[in-house]
Amino acid sequence: MAESTCARCGSTKFEMMHADKVEGATRSFLFVQCAECGAVAGVLDFINLGVQMARMKEEWQRAFERLRRNFDS
Ligand SMILES: [Zn+2]
Repeated sequence: MAESTCARCGSTKFEMMHADKVEGATRSFLFVQCAECGAVAGVLDFINLGVQMARMKEEWQRAFERLRRNFDS
């Protein structure tokens, strides 16, 4: 697999940067940026949807179990 390189400086080191001052945006983002020169290579939502969906699934399962116990008794 090819190694990812910065398009600006050629570095192979990247880092995550919390970007909360994006003009016109109403929420925060995470920038994947070059660790050497700061050139932005990608943008992710600050909120991790996978983690939130797993939490929602657990909450729904607990609510369903409560309903089932109430229905059975
Ligand atoms: Zn760079």
